[in-house]
Amino acid sequence: MLIDLKRLFASEGEVVDIDYTLAAAQSDLTGTVPDPVEIHLKGVAQNRAQIVEIRFGAHFTVNSVCDRCLEPLTRVFDYQFTHVLTQEVIDGFEEDIIVDGDKLNLDRLALTDIQLEFPLKLLCCEDCKGLCPQCGANLNRESCNCDKDPIDPRLEALKELLQ
Ligand SMILES: [Zn+2]
Ligand SMILES: [Zn+2]
Repeated sequence: MLIDLKRLFASEGEVVDIDYTLAAAQSDLTGTVPDPVEIHLKGVAQNRAQIVEIRFGAHFTVNSVCDRCLEPLTRVFDYQFTHVLTQEVIDGFEEDIIVDGDKLNLDRLALTDIQLEFPLKLLCCEDCKGLCPQCGANLNRESCNCDKDPIDPRLEALKELLQ
């Protein structure tokens, strides 16, 4: 969605409703899964005393896999974002976006906002035990008999010296 800033900045009290679905690629968020994801954006852009404030919620569902055990997972996300748009720097506002040009690309703004908030790792549960690096067993469901003692490189070096 492109927001017409010219009109918004021109008249105090001007309101633009935001209510649409942004079709994005999930790889924009997780970096791996190519599935499409539908991001529903709902909010408002409003001119208040010559300052345009844009507030919107982003609601979407991600179908992916756990980063540790690779089990499928579905997660619902709900984010709220607020930005103050100005045409010049104004003292006392921290979250300014200085706009030049007549249009604001809300798709891009929303995607960037979401990317900054999106978790680096998606886990099926906080204490997911993951997969055994040696036999691939899902350690949430089963235990295996692999030797999990990490090899201490110093001891290995010592062993070699003693041979
Ligand atoms: Zn997991
Ligand atoms: Zn194992």
